[in-house]
Amino acid sequence: MVLADLGKRIHNAVNNALSDTEDDYTTTVDTMLKTITTALLQSDVNIRLVSSLRTNIRNELLSNNKHNLPPSQRKKLIQKVVFDELCNLVDCKEQDVIFQAKKKKANVIMFVGLQGSGKTTSCTKLAVYYAKRGFKVGLVCADTFRAGAFDQLKQNAIKAHIPFYGSYTEPNPVKVASDGVAKFKKEKFEIIIVDTSGRHQQEEALFQEMVEISSVVQPNQTIMVLDASIGQAAEQQAKAFKESANFGAIILTKMDGHAKGGGAISAVAATNTPIIFIGTGEHMHDFEKFSPRSFIQKLLG
Ligand code: GDP
Repeated sequence: MVLADLGKRIHNAVNNALSDTEDDYTTTVDTMLKTITTALLQSDVNIRLVSSLRTNIRNELLSNNKHNLPPSQRKKLIQKVVFDELCNLVDCKEQDVIFQAKKKKANVIMFVGLQGSGKTTSCTKLAVYYAKRGFKVGLVCADTFRAGAFDQLKQNAIKAHIPFYGSYTEPNPVKVASDGVAKFKKEKFEIIIVDTSGRHQQEEALFQEMVEISSVVQPNQTIMVLDASIGQAAEQQAKAFKESANFGAIILTKMDGHAKGGGAISAVAATNTPIIFIGTGEHMHDFEKFSPRSFIQKLLG
């Protein structure tokens, strides 16, 4: 089920519960929960998370004689509890430790993720985001694995008027990353974004390369780019990357179109890492800052 439909289903389930004139409040809550949990599972949200959300909502709505509250208060409670629990799904509670770039300082941001996840596209999007806010931004293409990766980054960078660094001849990505960061640091760039190689699958060579690049460029922030349309696989993928790259933030891509999104949402919980931006299209401006509450608000319409 795509995210827009998920939002509608939950919205309707809550509305039905609010307009339910039945005397049996427990039945009203359970009917609502059945629809919400089915919709979340069909959107690929992990079953453990769905089950704990169900238990929490049920406890909050039915404990301590809540049956006896006046209907108007019960209705308010239903809305609040469902909303808060949905926010909990996408909120890793680490929002306040999110990296804040500092002006007049070299902030190095390294991107990791599988090939096709939207890494290169998101690098440019983030570069544009910071450039718009007055930072001096440079892009480094340390992807020497995929033929055409440098050209792609270069084209995006030129379109966005962002200075870039890469090499057609140097095969060692660690060297390219190190040279690019050194060059931009020397020229007093404030945000230096390093795009690294992806692979089609998680494999040892990729993780080894990430660790080496990371130790050389010493990023202030490592971001994992995660394709929201891959469903349940997102959780395991994020865990594997977390073990070797220890990223501090996630960018979820392809949240437009047919993304189910639930698998990626589960990845947040699995790695306890905040989503900082979402990609909502192929264009460089299709990029939104992520906040758990406004995301859920929008989802519910
Ligand atoms: P990389 O291999 O991880 O560097 O991935 P790319 O940046 O080359 O992206 C792979 C494909 O996904 C390209 O066709 C992008 O245009 C597309 N893409 C990236 N982000 C988004 C997004 O947020 N929404 C949509 N619809 N497409 C995206």
